[in-house]
Amino acid sequence: MTSHTPHEQGRTHGARAAPDAANWHALAVEETLTRLSSSRAGLDADEAARRLAEVGPNRLPEARQRSTLVRFLLQFHNLLIYVLLAAGVVSALIGHGTDAGVIFAVVVINAVIGFVQEGRAERALDAIRSMIDPHASVLRGGQRLSIAADEIVPGDIVLLEAGDRVPADLRLIRARNLRIDEAALTGESVPVDKTTEAVDASAALGDRLDLAFSGTFVTAGSGIGVTVATGATTELGRISAMIGAVEQLATPLIRQMDQFARQITLAVLGVSALVFAYAVYVITYGLDDAFMAVVGLAVAAIPEGLPAVMTITLAVGVQRMARRNAIIRRLPAVETLGSVSVICSDKTGTLTRNEMTVRDVVTAEERFTVEGTGYAPHGGIVVGGISIDPPTFRVLEELALAGLLCNDAHLREGEAGWQVVGDPMEGALVALAAKAGHQPDAARAEIARLDEIPFDSRHRYMATLNRREGYEPTIYVKGAPERLLEMCDSAASPEGPRPIDREYWEARLADLAADGERVLALARTVAPAGTSDIAPESVERDLCLLGFVGLIDPPREEAVAAIEECRRAGISVKMITGDHAATARAIATQLGLAEDPRTVTGRDLDGLDDGAFAAEARQASVFARTSPEHKLRLVQALQADGSTIAMTGDGVNDAPALKRADVGVAMGNKGTEAAKEASEMVLADDNFASIVAAVREGRTVYDNLTKVIAWTLPTNGGEAMTIILAILFGLTLPVTPVQILWINMITAVALGLTLAFEPTEAGAMSRPARAAGQRLISGRLLWRILFVSGLMVAGGFGIYTWATLNGHDVETARTMVVNTMVVMEIFYLFSVRYVHGASITLEGVLGTRAVLIGVAIVVVGQFAFTYLPPLQAVFDSRPIGLADGALIIAIGIALLAIVELEKRIAARISRP
Ligand code: ADP
Ligand code: MG
Repeated sequence: MTSHTPHEQGRTHGARAAPDAANWHALAVEETLTRLSSSRAGLDADEAARRLAEVGPNRLPEARQRSTLVRFLLQFHNLLIYVLLAAGVVSALIGHGTDAGVIFAVVVINAVIGFVQEGRAERALDAIRSMIDPHASVLRGGQRLSIAADEIVPGDIVLLEAGDRVPADLRLIRARNLRIDEAALTGESVPVDKTTEAVDASAALGDRLDLAFSGTFVTAGSGIGVTVATGATTELGRISAMIGAVEQLATPLIRQMDQFARQITLAVLGVSALVFAYAVYVITYGLDDAFMAVVGLAVAAIPEGLPAVMTITLAVGVQRMARRNAIIRRLPAVETLGSVSVICSDKTGTLTRNEMTVRDVVTAEERFTVEGTGYAPHGGIVVGGISIDPPTFRVLEELALAGLLCNDAHLREGEAGWQVVGDPMEGALVALAAKAGHQPDAARAEIARLDEIPFDSRHRYMATLNRREGYEPTIYVKGAPERLLEMCDSAASPEGPRPIDREYWEARLADLAADGERVLALARTVAPAGTSDIAPESVERDLCLLGFVGLIDPPREEAVAAIEECRRAGISVKMITGDHAATARAIATQLGLAEDPRTVTGRDLDGLDDGAFAAEARQASVFARTSPEHKLRLVQALQADGSTIAMTGDGVNDAPALKRADVGVAMGNKGTEAAKEASEMVLADDNFASIVAAVREGRTVYDNLTKVIAWTLPTNGGEAMTIILAILFGLTLPVTPVQILWINMITAVALGLTLAFEPTEAGAMSRPARAAGQRLISGRLLWRILFVSGLMVAGGFGIYTWATLNGHDVETARTMVVNTMVVMEIFYLFSVRYVHGASITLEGVLGTRAVLIGVAIVVVGQFAFTYLPPLQAVFDSRPIGLADGALIIAIGIALLAIVELEKRIAARISRP
């Protein structure tokens, strides 16, 4: 029903074409709003939708994804594949057409499998990444909304507060102590103080103090701005047309393995050349026989599938973590998580539920008990066991009003009962006000807020300036009790203010905190008539204390179990909180953090030199009344011991500690964008138990990587040694090159890959954390690889010799060798599945679904290889009798028994 005059329409179009986009900083606020056809109340929903359709999403153009074809062709860009292709060409030239065909087929099949799996892994990671897409607060039609940052359009009114990432280029229309870190854009690391005054048109980017630029971070204060540019037209979009390039599926371990695989390939080529020379000159093989033997060697020894399977193992781990609400932002964290030895966690909301309810109110004369549960604004107030009528207690009523006005939260009744919109502690104060007889919405409308000082974890209080029509303006302050006691010189009583009795208040604080209640103090003072804004200097003295409220915030039950799990896993847990020491200590005891948790406060820590600080960091488990700077110092002190630290955080000021920690963990719900940006992992549910779940998955991933290696390398080693030995002694090759290709392909795809999906081993969380930076291929693993390779050689040669001695022809004997190798790998797979435990258990024998499917595929494949005429023609295989088949299986069982025996002996040696 809106009709535009031609003039209006013209203006609207002109605005979005933004003719002089670069000069928004030189325009006055009103002029900017007019040009953008917006207002301080924001666009309405329809207009915003229309503009979104017109200008497109507020997103920077992504680095161009590699095309499908390029991605497929890249599968061939690999040293091993080049070697194989060369071998195929030479085989074809010297008349081994079938061999060449098999080699080319294997190359193509390998590429297809790699292509499909890599695509799946990338898609999974993309999906996980999109779970933490940034949001922004905007005003639309006068309503405050949280929308996805990419839905912002020119003309949108955006609200900024400390910790936010500026979602688009904004012309500021309000700035309260607003400071913005523009390092992302200008490289200048000192935050800039922003204003709303227009600046000279010629001002450089860093001097445009009235603009907030997309991609920069709000470090303090708050502000409001109107969007002048989005997406690629922002300053950030201009300097970097491509940002957020696709993260490579690579982590330190994968890179270590890639490099290792390349070294093996080169070594294999070198050895192959020597063996070729030896075969031709010493043993006097024919040239082409020698060549085929060496091709067999190269094919056998190169672990072609290994890097791909390792990448998939990591991707599976990342997906499992996401399912447990731990979203990985940086892939290497998957590995680091497995070696975490200390978790430093926030208390409120992470270890506790952050569902606050006011239980006690203390004034200068009375102690009230508040009834009711949750945020429902119903419940009586009791003194000494008797219900009271709240309005008859003036101080209580005024305290409740202070709690309501110095407050940004709202309560809303939904299907799941009463919910808070905003800070849970403030929500509890709204409920208290209702119980004390106030009408929250009416009171807030009548006693308007003129100004505020937002809560900040450094100064630990919040203040507002309110005025009722016809009255003096009043300052209300709420905050940490010790802080407010310093700021008050009187306390309210029914007869009016009287001098404050500090001993009385300190005793009340101790009572409440000892029960684990979070204590908050409320105060007020009358401001001089005409006051319209407040600054810290004006609120930090001469206040009149109204009283204390004690809030309960129950511990999360799953946190109790998770802390117990950490204890078994040798991970120490430290609680770091801005709360009062006695409260923190009581909650820590309830959580089972320690029998008698050693508690220190930020003030205690400040008095310590570095040595004493480090000692305290190690011994204490509760750190109370800390500020974000303490977190950073703690991480540094603990890391100096060689510990691997996971540290949680949510505010802007936590960013340095999150960055410094080995695994920075940001809160998905209450965390700021700055904290998320600085962290390796984001918790979708803010829950401590999710960190522990991620650590468990991290250990699983590491174990599974080890298993993949421990299983793959002996296969290659066994095959290669078999061929080298045959050539050294001038024997007929017990397996042909194409047969080796067959073994490698069918086992790597069907068996090796199952290890990526192995579940967590029972003992994974009952052994100490792995040392950080431990090499993937440890001495123990290297020994295991050589040992099993030896067994495979013995099995292969053994069956070959036995077969020829029993009158089988070479082709049948080779077929038996191929089957023996594959059977040994199947049995070895069952052993490898348990790095630390025994494998011959009911659970171990039954395997997992993935393992059983894999084994079934291999068995069918082997039957086809042995008995199907077309495959017999390609691989030169022959049918095998029942007795010989039984012997082959017996060899597999023997291998399993020997490997398990070795495992047990080794365990006894390492743990005398
Ligand atoms: P934590 O989240 O670790 O419990 P915070 O740093 O959030 O600690 O809070 C520290 C203290 O600051 C609290 O114990 C409380 O006394 C006070 N406080 C917290 N939030 C507010 C708020 N919104 N307004 C006033 N005071 C607050
Ligand atoms: Mg908090």
